[in-house]
Amino acid sequence: MTPRSASPRPAAFLDRDGVLNHDHGYVHRPQDIVWVAGAKSAVRLLHERGYWIFVVTNQAGIARGLYGETDLRGLHAWMDGELRAAGGGIDAFYYCPHHPTAGEGKYTRECDCRKPAPGMLLRAMREYQVDATRSFLIGDRDSDLAAAQTAGVRGHMFAGGDLYDFVLRLIGPNSA
Ligand SMILES: [Mg+2]
Ligand SMILES: [Zn+2]
Repeated sequence: MTPRSASPRPAAFLDRDGVLNHDHGYVHRPQDIVWVAGAKSAVRLLHERGYWIFVVTNQAGIARGLYGETDLRGLHAWMDGELRAAGGGIDAFYYCPHHPTAGEGKYTRECDCRKPAPGMLLRAMREYQVDATRSFLIGDRDSDLAAAQTAGVRGHMFAGGDLYDFVLRLIGPNSA
């Protein structure tokens, strides 16, 4: 069930909201997705270069009762389909449904996966053969970069613009 490659591969950990899609707040339906410019071609480029591609996303809207895990999984399957149609795809989506105080159900608790905690990245590195030294995270908040730092991978702040251009600058035109 767990994919294993013969040798470790680098991983690109991508925050979702504000990196792949515009962050309108608690996006949870396909019709709400507005892709960031260059997002699909950036994922294709990472795929072509042999990166594992993981989404690591805080989804406290679940703790707040705004949507459920089934909605979120459906959205992520749809996003993966769109990205695969463009030549890329996501190897695994990791999400944190928790919040330390908001909401009043089972998701309202301290956890080790809500960024800035590194739990989602560490889980991916347990489940896949990852070369951390060649891996990086792209996020749009300090909490994303803090999670990367604690997990031992480089973090890069994406301040908007074209994600393909951003990724190309990171990995270079010819790097393997
Ligand atoms: Mg974000
Ligand atoms: Zn969590």
